[in-house]
Amino acid sequence: MKQISRPPFIICPRCGEKSFGISEILPGYYLRKCNKCFYPDSQRNEPEVNYILPRLSKRIIYIDQFALSYMVRALHPNMKATGNNDADNFWLRLYQKLDRLVKMQIIICPQSSFHLQESVVSNFFEPLEKMYHLLSRGSKFVDQHRIRKVQVENSVRNWIRGLSKKPTINSLETVVDRNINIWLPREVKLYLSQYPQTYEEELRKSRERIHQQWLKEFYIWKKYSDAKFEQWVEDFYLSLVKEILHAYPDCLRHIIKFPAQQIHEIRLCQFLFESMDPIQLIHSILQEEGIAHNDLWMNSWQYLQSESFRQIHIKLYALFMPILLERLVLDRRSLLIGA
Ligand SMILES: [Zn+2]
Repeated sequence: MKQISRPPFIICPRCGEKSFGISEILPGYYLRKCNKCFYPDSQRNEPEVNYILPRLSKRIIYIDQFALSYMVRALHPNMKATGNNDADNFWLRLYQKLDRLVKMQIIICPQSSFHLQESVVSNFFEPLEKMYHLLSRGSKFVDQHRIRKVQVENSVRNWIRGLSKKPTINSLETVVDRNINIWLPREVKLYLSQYPQTYEEELRKSRERIHQQWLKEFYIWKKYSDAKFEQWVEDFYLSLVKEILHAYPDCLRHIIKFPAQQIHEIRLCQFLFESMDPIQLIHSILQEEGIAHNDLWMNSWQYLQSESFRQIHIKLYALFMPILLERLVLDRRSLLIGA
């Protein structure tokens, strides 16, 4: 006989058998039904028997593509994994722990557009896709450009109010596409990724563009291999500001003087602010906050030099650069190949 409910079983209020199991788990409560007498029966107008579940407060863990990839390989013996038993065991154990924590409703690992970008060109796309469905259960990070736009908006507002240390992301809704604090059903539904036919081609072109840009960066960094870490971070922000203002040379001539000779031509911010004009955005928020038209440029310049601007989480890039540089110096060849 088909089981309509699953353990743990308790005594059924109607037939008295220990067969009153869990029939369905919904976002905030679960339902019970009897496997023997089918209580509650909607045909007899018996209302469903529900039990409220505790509120959840899940942690978001971002799993980078390389970790997803190693976990998939470690789970599939026919794939070439790391070739090192200890390392393969590590990835296997990591997967088991993450899977368990997701099932315990403690964490969730949303998918991101970067996962799809990295997976589409992989030769084991299907198992990768299954892996991120298992760990994300369909939840996704909001598009990175939308998140960055909110970060810029909030950081400008924080700057005006003198709240330079206030985080630029203040709600989960800003970063994930749904309420993650719901109880997950037992069954995992797999939804295949949807993307247009031209996607792969566009992706290849974009990767090539970024690759060429990185190569240029490496040669610039080589010249500065003795620079201190703090100097790198400082230079990164100066270059970033310069790049943001790059599109407005006429407006800047009179008000802004960049420190001479300090700035390398770091042009990676064109990828950081792709599909967005940061200055226009900054101006519109300043205007909303009551800044007069004539003061927009000076305020924008002051904001871009402020701690508030640095609260936007592009810091990772700044930190990333010296680390890459160090590796570049140590092993230039392997880094260029892997870039
Ligand atoms: Zn019963």
